[in-house]
Amino acid sequence: MSNLAYNDNMDHMMSDAENFEDGNRGLHYEENLLWEKGHSDTPGVDLPSLKGTKSRTGQSERKNVGLPQVSEPQVMRHFVRLSTKNYSIDSGFFPLGSCTMKHNPRLNEKMARLKGFASIHPMQPTQTVQGALKVMYDLQNWLAELTGLPAVCLTPAAGAHGELAGIMTIRKAHEVQGNTHKDVILVPDSAHGTNPATAVMCGFKTRTISTKETGRVSVEAFKEALYKQDPEGKDVAGMMVTNPNTCGLFERDIQEITDLLHDAGGYFYCDGANFNALVGKIRPGDFGVDVMHINLHKTFSTPHGGGGPGSGPICVAPSLQDYMPSPVVLKEGTAYRLEEEGERETSCGRLRGFQGQFGMHVRALSYMMSHGADGLKQVSEDAVLNANYILSQLKDDYHAPFEGPCMHECLFTDKYQKEYDVTTLDIAKTLIEYGMHPMTVYFPLVVSGAMLVEPTETESKDALDRFISVMKMIAKKARSGDVTELHNYPKSTPRHRLDEVKAAREPKLRWKKGA
Ligand SMILES: *Cc1c(COP(=O)(O)O)cnc(C)c1O
Repeated sequence: MSNLAYNDNMDHMMSDAENFEDGNRGLHYEENLLWEKGHSDTPGVDLPSLKGTKSRTGQSERKNVGLPQVSEPQVMRHFVRLSTKNYSIDSGFFPLGSCTMKHNPRLNEKMARLKGFASIHPMQPTQTVQGALKVMYDLQNWLAELTGLPAVCLTPAAGAHGELAGIMTIRKAHEVQGNTHKDVILVPDSAHGTNPATAVMCGFKTRTISTKETGRVSVEAFKEALYKQDPEGKDVAGMMVTNPNTCGLFERDIQEITDLLHDAGGYFYCDGANFNALVGKIRPGDFGVDVMHINLHKTFSTPHGGGGPGSGPICVAPSLQDYMPSPVVLKEGTAYRLEEEGERETSCGRLRGFQGQFGMHVRALSYMMSHGADGLKQVSEDAVLNANYILSQLKDDYHAPFEGPCMHECLFTDKYQKEYDVTTLDIAKTLIEYGMHPMTVYFPLVVSGAMLVEPTETESKDALDRFISVMKMIAKKARSGDVTELHNYPKSTPRHRLDEVKAAREPKLRWKKGA
């Protein structure tokens, strides 16, 4: 790619002008590696060469370690340009279903940077970090209040880690109660892949509940799975259900399903990644959840993806409280402390060093307190309203596989476009051409060619209308039959269609000179 690559040498650039099809047009830089930029004749530093000093490294002495030779301005430009290449929620619409890419309020950042929070160390004596422990304690209480699940452990570092914590909690409960025959976890076919993976990591077998017809877990399908091996469901340790589910639909029969599960001695793990559709409206504890994780980085706006680490606290019902991981933050009189190792005998143990992603705890609490009870309720109402607005505007152009309104995200398929040889992938790639991050594609797996759109409550009507108009334009183009463009987008990006299969099967993870 050298003749397309950015090079600070102007002559070189001019001589390659004819080949210069893509890079460096319209202030759009093709950014090559520092190693490719460097020249051996232009060292980055001007130190005199060493004289009269004997090497003390002996055999391991190397003449040239191959570090790029670049000047300070070159380094500066390189990293500043790279920093502008990230597409993020701060740069544009990001309707990635199931991921909840919402605006991260700057107030939260300000709070997390307060010296008393940003400069402390997890090994400090607890009497010197009472304020930080209070933040964690208050966050535990807010989460308990919002979920109706009174015990909270903040340590899991992401949603999937929360799932692990929750299923370990369930496993420990069965172990202590002597239920060794319970070795099956029920998981709907629409589940996020982390659900069955977690169950298997904890040594359980998974059994699938079919949701194909209606996008929801029906009582019949649930019973079929529950009683498959044993007429009383004795082999079932629990179920993992996301509510609202990954089709963006509320599980209407959840109460009846939970009662059946509890009668069989199973526990209900609720995947709470979609809690942003319910927060402030209903409490999962009220529909029988025993343990649930919360993605602070989804529902409570803490930055994620490239922007920060996740945080996946679990909220636990009295049924499982004794078994959840430690430590939790306790309050005695006016003082806060961390639970000691082994203090709760039946705890399933520690998940990680220290106490979790503390910076995210500060941000999430800041988000909750600045919204208040009424504000959090409006968050879920507006998230649901925005998704239904998109659904209502696009359902004539795109096939919506399940009837009725949605919750915080809406699901389409490429059924209508396929007739014109246009697929979900083409639609996603065309959105990139029009300056938008695509929606989640080909997930959930229960429908073919899925497009899962989650606008979140933080988008304006203008932003939604722009997305809708681009989607309508794509549908119209497909119907016109002139689909060559749709097959070749994106055109304006530094890279166009990539061979994704080859990239996945033969990843090149190491740069070699001249390769
Ligand atoms: C995001 C998500 C997860 C996993 O959360 P991470 O923080 O990415 O580990 C699990 N289940 C569902 C439904 C999700 O959307």
